[in-house]
Amino acid sequence: MDDFDPVPSDCDDGDGGVAAASSSSPGRSICHAGCGRPSRVCLCPYLPASPLQTSTTIVILHHPHALRRNPLSTLPLLARCLSNLRLVPGRRLLPSSTAPAPGPVLLLYPSPAASDLVSWCRSTPRPARAAPTLLLLDGTWRQAREMHAASLAVLASLGAVPVALPVDSRADGDSMFESDLVVRKEPRKGCVSTMEAVARALRLLEPEREGAVVEETMLGVLRAMVAFQTEHLLHRTVKPRAKMRKKKELRREQEMQRDAVD
Ligand SMILES: [Zn+2]
Repeated sequence: MDDFDPVPSDCDDGDGGVAAASSSSPGRSICHAGCGRPSRVCLCPYLPASPLQTSTTIVILHHPHALRRNPLSTLPLLARCLSNLRLVPGRRLLPSSTAPAPGPVLLLYPSPAASDLVSWCRSTPRPARAAPTLLLLDGTWRQAREMHAASLAVLASLGAVPVALPVDSRADGDSMFESDLVVRKEPRKGCVSTMEAVARALRLLEPEREGAVVEETMLGVLRAMVAFQTEHLLHRTVKPRAKMRKKKELRREQEMQRDAVD
């Protein structure tokens, strides 16, 4: 779920990409030894020197297409931030997707059955919430819904507790979290990237000081990524896209005419 990010893949061809750039062309060099991103949007200064330890095990089931189709996926950065993280490619959770968990298993997914993670932490004694496993689904909203539906039996066998992040109800009542951390168009308000969702959840699940450090580090990386993306969108030229669209429309019209003749 960018996003729990069941974040949509309708993103722009932004600077978050790691795939397209070639290290041979000028200005397109890649930070091979570090974050793997194009050098001009390198995030190494913001990443922890080594992945941070957490008492929470984070398991992210991501759609097989999530990394290939979504250059703004925060999954590679998550792996650089957290040591106790498992990225599991697949369309459904398998019994083997998670190691036997000593603590509670939580599914962070905004289903109607989900309880507020803050309330869950408050109502669960500390020993009963030690060493939790946090499950997330990553794909577009549609993919995440399908992955959730296909995983219900395994989730039930794991005794997974459905939880969601609390809504930050401000004066207007419908905002959630910081809008400056949204890296792409979201389908509706209250959507955060997978990285932000994990950071917010770890703040609540980890012991207080450690939780604050983990959250701040991860949000720092995300802020830097969003700043690069915003910069890119500001300086992007609109012309080539308009041309591309016109070409597409022209081709569609030609096809329709051909179909009409057939
Ligand atoms: Zn780098």
